[in-house]
Amino acid sequence: MGGIRLGNIGNNSGFTLLDSDYSTLVEESPDPILVHDLTGKIVYCNLAAAGLLGYTGEKLDLNVVDIVPPSELKRIADRRKKRVSGLDDIHAYETLIQKRGGAPIPVYIRSKPITIMDGQRCIQLNIRNITDLREKEKELRESQERLIQFMEGSIEGFVLLDSDLRLLEANSVWLEQANASFDYAKGKHITEILPRLEETGRLDVYETVLKTGESHEFSHVIPTSGGDVWFNIKVFKVGENIGVITNDITEQMAYEQKLHSLHSNASDLARVNNINEIAEITENTLFGVIGFTRGSFGLVEGDKLVHRYRWGFNSSDPFILELDGSGITVEAINSQKTILVNDVSKNQSYITAEAETEILSELCVPIFVRNEPIALLNIESTEKDAFTSSDQELVEILASHISAAMYRLQAEDVKLELLNQMKQINEELSRSNTDLENYTYIISHDLKAPLRSIKSFSSFLEEDYGSSLDSEALEYLNRIVAAVTRMDDLISDLLTVSRIGRKFMDEESVDLNELLDEILADLSATIKEKSVLVQKDDLPTILTQKVWIRQLFTNLISNGIKFNDSNEPTLNIQYSKADDFHLFKIQDNGIGISSEYHERIFNLFERLHTVDEYPGTGAGLAICKKIVDNFGGKIWVESEGSGDGSVFCFTFPVFD
Ligand code: ADP
Repeated sequence: MGGIRLGNIGNNSGFTLLDSDYSTLVEESPDPILVHDLTGKIVYCNLAAAGLLGYTGEKLDLNVVDIVPPSELKRIADRRKKRVSGLDDIHAYETLIQKRGGAPIPVYIRSKPITIMDGQRCIQLNIRNITDLREKEKELRESQERLIQFMEGSIEGFVLLDSDLRLLEANSVWLEQANASFDYAKGKHITEILPRLEETGRLDVYETVLKTGESHEFSHVIPTSGGDVWFNIKVFKVGENIGVITNDITEQMAYEQKLHSLHSNASDLARVNNINEIAEITENTLFGVIGFTRGSFGLVEGDKLVHRYRWGFNSSDPFILELDGSGITVEAINSQKTILVNDVSKNQSYITAEAETEILSELCVPIFVRNEPIALLNIESTEKDAFTSSDQELVEILASHISAAMYRLQAEDVKLELLNQMKQINEELSRSNTDLENYTYIISHDLKAPLRSIKSFSSFLEEDYGSSLDSEALEYLNRIVAAVTRMDDLISDLLTVSRIGRKFMDEESVDLNELLDEILADLSATIKEKSVLVQKDDLPTILTQKVWIRQLFTNLISNGIKFNDSNEPTLNIQYSKADDFHLFKIQDNGIGISSEYHERIFNLFERLHTVDEYPGTGAGLAICKKIVDNFGGKIWVESEGSGDGSVFCFTFPVFD
């Protein structure tokens, strides 16, 4: 046996202290074991114990008092006294033992009485070194202390609970939140110091955190006589204990609730039709969300601030202030800033319309549209400090809703006014157009009759008296007839122009291939005479007013032939269709048109040549333009200039 025996360390000779099985067991135990007699003299010590005490392979002549630090001696003596009187007890206790050289070791000792082989009664000490355990406990204690110190400086409440959820520590913020003293709260179960945890099922959170070590966070409301108090609670594990951080979020919750009801009230502002509705919603919102003794909604009108809508005043008549005068509301408009006064009696700018007022707080928020202050919200209270900075924020949010509503109303007013103006101008324009067309029609129609008389009487003159007139008189007569004929042509064209759009024809399905054949047949004499080569694409059948489409093609084709001095005149009629319009092109290789005239030639009676050069009245293209306009299309010319030919293009919207 390798145990250390009294006076005989590491030596197997001498008496057998313990029976052999037991001694083997003791010998090999990793736990230090010592045996001492009733005087405290150590009679046996296993290797683990020798190692713990710092002795190896030497003689041990020790008493237990030698391995106990002086601080523990009294306790040892007391315990020994008890031991002597009641040997049969088993004791377990924590103490310190003295290592060789003096370092104390924290140990856990279990002592029990034994009888050794020679019948001597002794005490066996099973020792466990708890240095590591103590270190850890110390570290934990220190870290908890640090945590508590840290939390003491925090604005959040902090509580440390033991694993039975009883309060170990609390910082002053928490004590204030719980309205409790530390002495009262210490040792109390969490359910006693934080109400409604069980009812709301939140106690489970603490159990879960204890079990899993995972942190949890939840909101908790506690009804009090002063209203609901809201907490945000974070629960987390600190060693074997539980840390709880509590945040009073009552104000924040109240703000959020106010903000929510403000937004839902203010959403009606998006649908208002006039300023009265804005004022009504504003009053209800301000009263419901913030509350006030009296208030007003003022509008900037010229150089005045007119408090048009007044709530809670003796009189609801508008109250008018000059913008260059004084007063908090005027000041808010001029400075373009919110003004919050917590005690108006101390504010120089404060003036009141009613002398008997007991108003103490006032909040003025200007409303801007396009960066201009155009209105003002004003609320007042008989209490000091009635409005907080979060009330100010809420009223400013309301002001921005009102601003959007006023902007919309202004924009709608402007739009409506513009629309009205446009409608009026359009009506006037179409009235004068119709008048003009009517006059033109009537005048040209009425001019036709005397013209016919001149024409008839001129031919009677020539027929009946022609033989008696000399050649000069005959020449004059011819000139009269020619002038009358030209005037007749002009008047006919004028009549045509005034008829387009005025004279509505039924629409019919027109096969443009057939129509073009008819037109070319009508013009066949000229085509033959000038040997014009006409080519054309396959044309569509469209729903249209046949008379006018015939006129359009006739005018353009005859111009293409007329203004063409080429030896081999050609006419090319092209067609293509886009998604929503038909496009026609009538191309000739004639005299062309320089670009400066491309627009002018569509004016009535606008011509680029004399009648002697090319006959005509100058109304053909104006007629074409009016027809195309009436059909909802466009007409234009493309030409590089004189000698290069022209392409007349026009479109019709696709209806079929
Ligand atoms: P008119 O043919 O009676 O002169 P229009 O209104 O048809 O009147 O044409 C106006 C003017 O546009 C013409 O006088 C002519 O100068 C020019 N013009 C029209 N069509 C052509 C064309 N195909 N080629 C060259 N010039 C043209």
